[in-house]
Amino acid sequence: MTRYFDHSATSPMRPVAIETWVRNATALNPGGQYASGRAARRILDEAREQVARLLGADPIEVIFTSSGTEADNIGVRGLYCASGSSRVITTAIEHPAVRDTVAHLVGADVVILEVDETGHLSDLSALDEPAAVVACMVANNETGAIQPVEAVVRRAQAVGTPVHLDAVQAVGRIPIDFHALGATTLAASAHKFGGPRGVGFLLARRSPAPRPLLFGGGQERGIRPGTNDVAGAAAAAAALGEAVGELEEEARRVAGLRDRLRERILATVEDVEVHTVEPALTGHLNVSFPGAEGDSLIMLLDAAGFAASTGSACHSGVNRASHVLLAQGVEERVARGTVRFTLGRTTAEDDVDALVSALPEIVRRARDAGMA
Ligand code: PLP
Repeated sequence: MTRYFDHSATSPMRPVAIETWVRNATALNPGGQYASGRAARRILDEAREQVARLLGADPIEVIFTSSGTEADNIGVRGLYCASGSSRVITTAIEHPAVRDTVAHLVGADVVILEVDETGHLSDLSALDEPAAVVACMVANNETGAIQPVEAVVRRAQAVGTPVHLDAVQAVGRIPIDFHALGATTLAASAHKFGGPRGVGFLLARRSPAPRPLLFGGGQERGIRPGTNDVAGAAAAAAALGEAVGELEEEARRVAGLRDRLRERILATVEDVEVHTVEPALTGHLNVSFPGAEGDSLIMLLDAAGFAASTGSACHSGVNRASHVLLAQGVEERVARGTVRFTLGRTTAEDDVDALVSALPEIVRRARDAGMA
């Protein structure tokens, strides 16, 4: 039996999402101008309405995509292409879905907003000069740090800059109201809140609308053409409904487990650095064990039946410190010994207890193995 501590990478599908998915698997093309097409269209429309209602948007603003990555690409590149300016503002801690998209914008002059040692944006003054787009995450995938996005949007809006928010980690975990936030576009991904993998959506205001990256049949306001995955959209909406409905209670429960995990680790393992600092998502605990290599820790945890990740991508077998932790001022050697534990809907107290009793020996063995 694997004890799962990687809910931020993906969360197991909720039974309600599986049932909805299966029930709608036979839906045909929602573009069809006959009874079965209209039936599929109704299911898709209901999913769109539900997502809009749960996140404070209008149904027409919901653009279904194939992933959070695709939604981020459309938001960032689409708004950049819709603007006449070459100035782009983003943060030092973005997920590759935004970071690499920004890096591939042709002709862009990129300004980076830095974070302080707690992992939160510290200086927003670059926002006072207009730009093509600001791309900023709501909550960080590695540390869980919740960013001051209300202030980001307010300052960007004051000079007329459109804002793309990457809310992939936040949707279903903290309240999100698209209209109240005032962002131009917002990306989300169903598999992070118990929906199917391979289904995402972009909330996109009518104006300025992002330019499409794909061209074709004109579905989804032409912003994301292609025949819709009706079952996926319906399952995503069902998962989101349940996630939002239990949001407060779940956040409290998971925070209790996360606090217990943090305290027991600090009490039983020597020389530990915790990088998750409030305000943060309640399921995150990003922690370093200096002297150990993150990959050794993950392998030893896996062998003992625990699934967790380092939180940073490992390129061609070379251990790299996370750009998120380096940006927050963590020393490279320390950052390399990091594990991201993320708790969620299926995490129970005995999972935490099993982990804390196995961890001291795992850390000892990883430290004995040393650094690569
Ligand atoms: N943005 C953030 C903050 C994420 O954590 C992720 C996934 O880990 C993504 C974007 C990409 O989402 P998807 O896996 O649906 O492509």
